[in-house]
Order: sequence, then C-alpha cells, then structure tokens
Amino acid sequence: MRPMSADTHATDNRLTVVVAAFNEAESLPVLQPRLAAVLDDVAATHGLDCRVVYVDDGSTDATWSVLQALAAGDRRIALLRLSRNFGKELALTAGLDHVDQGAALILDADGQDPPELIPRFVEQWRCGYDDVFGTRIEREGEGWLKRGSAHAFYRVIGRLSKTPIPADTGDFRLLSPRALAALGRLRERHRFMKGLFGWVGFNRVAVPYHREPRVAGTSKFSYWRLWNLALEAITSFSTAPLRLATYLGLLTAMVAFGYGVWVVVKALAFGDPVQGWPTMMAVILFLGGVQLIALGLIGEYLGRLYDESKQRPLYLIDTWRPASGVSSGQV
Ligand code: UDP
Ligand code: MG
Repeated sequence: MRPMSADTHATDNRLTVVVAAFNEAESLPVLQPRLAAVLDDVAATHGLDCRVVYVDDGSTDATWSVLQALAAGDRRIALLRLSRNFGKELALTAGLDHVDQGAALILDADGQDPPELIPRFVEQWRCGYDDVFGTRIEREGEGWLKRGSAHAFYRVIGRLSKTPIPADTGDFRLLSPRALAALGRLRERHRFMKGLFGWVGFNRVAVPYHREPRVAGTSKFSYWRLWNLALEAITSFSTAPLRLATYLGLLTAMVAFGYGVWVVVKALAFGDPVQGWPTMMAVILFLGGVQLIALGLIGEYLGRLYDESKQRPLYLIDTWRPASGVSSGQV
C-alpha cells in the first residue's frame, strides 16, 4: 500500500510512465523504443527524471520475459509482476502505488495512446494542471458497435453520476503529485478508474488526440467485459438505478390504485361477471418481472458491499524490480 508520509510526492521533477500489460508480448517491443525516445526528449526539454513502470498483469504469454529483456536495456525501467490477472484497473492501481515521487502518466501498452503526445501532457502539468487527460476525437481501428456503445456509455454515466466524468476519455492521463497522492487514498475494490480520477478533482484539462489502432495483438476487452465495466461504473458512481426502482414502484402502485377504483366502480354499477383471466395474468407477470429486476438491482449493490466488507488486499505482487535508476533515488 502507498506510504502516506508527509513528503510523499514532494519531489516533482520526476515523471513515471505507468503501463499495464496483459499478454502484450508483441506490442511492448514496438512501444518501448517510441517511449524511450519521447522520454529522452522530455528529460532534455523539461529537466525531468523520467521513469517507466511496466506492470505485468498475470500475462500467460512471453510478456514477462520480453519486459525483463527491455529492462536490461534501459535503467529507467522498473518491473512489477502481479500474482495473477487482476484486470487493467487493479494493474494500474498497483503501478501507481509504486510511484513514490513526482507525477505519473498512464499509457496503454498497445500504442493506442501515442507516447509522442507525452510532451503536451507535461507542458500542461508544468502550467499547473493536476489532471491532464487525453480526450479521443476519433477512434481508429474500432468497429461502429464499439464506438457507438462507448459513446452511449459516456453519455449515460455522465447523466447518472454526480462525479464529473469527461466523455470519450480513457485512462491516458497525467496526474500531478498531489492528484496521485489523493488517488492513492481511494482504496475501494470496485475501481472504475475514470470515475475515481473525476472524484479527485483539482485543476483538470483535456488534450484532444486521435486514438490509433493497436500496433499488435488484439483487444482484451470483449463486449461482455465492457458491459461488466459499464455496470461497475454505474453501480460505483451512482445510486440512480435504486431510485429508479422506487419511482417505478410508486408509479405502478398509483396506476394499480386507479385501476382498482375503476374495477370497484364498474362492479357496483354493472355487477361482477367473472372474467379477465388474461388481464390478471398479464398484470401478475409484469409485476413479477419488475420486482425481480428491482431485486437484481439491489443485489448488484449488495454484492459490491459484500466484496468491500471482506477487506482483501486489492492485488498481490509476485515480483517488484525497481529501476536501477539514472539519477538520485529509487523508483
Ligand atoms: N490490460 C491489463 N489487464 C487486463 C486487460 C488489459 O493490464 O486484464 C491492459 C492491456 O495490456 C492494455 C490496456 O490494458 O495495455 C488496454 O487494453 P486493450 O487495448 O485490450 O483495451 P482497448 O484499448 O481495446 O479498450
Ligand atoms: Mg487498446
């Protein structure tokens, strides 16, 4: 867990790039040279001590050996290997927890967030912004269904959540030392990172960019995983669905009351011939369905509460190899 000493993140002339990688053996050798060139440039223009932390999120391919080879060739690289696949959000959390000085920048391993933009992020940080986030103007190499569902998702969560979550914004961002320290204090298990960044606040600015296709490999996020991520986002950052269930209940009760009055009046005026089995079935099935949905909703929240109450560590570390370093201090 992150050390909470008063001088944490005190030095702000360090920039650590955090990359979560899950089965990225093909992409990493393409990414690292690009990243290294950019970091050389940033180090020269801004006088920053640049580092990289690669987090191997329990990969089952050659990612770890590829990372070891890369680290052997560059003293700025630190390696972190998790005990199994914990998912991107927790892998990033693990990586960020291991940045104990300066700012952090989050980058995807697949080159979809171009490292060449890092200098623009750093400039904004140097201008005093705490949360510099990349906003996608365009997503190349992704089908209309993915783009459409992502578009809809950001609009829905934007309406439901009180926490500001900028639309079309991924995890590509730079966090200033104080934003990073603040994020380190949010230890919840169900982590929708974009929401957590939004919750932290401070001075925020967007850097628009074109999202490129992957350099190699395939996306790790199937539609099913994206759907689960969306559920996670909504239940972690909004209780609106619970309120919706209440309103739906109220509305149904009101309609049922009106209908009840009408049935009684009709029976008084015209007698009560027995009929209406189809209507009764329709109403019972409809109400049964609505009740099950409401129960399911409560269950979603309850399940998360249960996970939270277990107080397990967020992730477990297999290996931590600090960077051998280029200047003072250790990563
Ligand atoms: N990733 C990870 N753990 C996972 C899944 C993905 O660390 O369980 C990493 C992956 O290696 C990549 C980033 O998260 O660096 C984004 O994944 P991907 O490119 O598959 O997602 P997409 O860009 O398609 O949304
Ligand atoms: Mg990707």
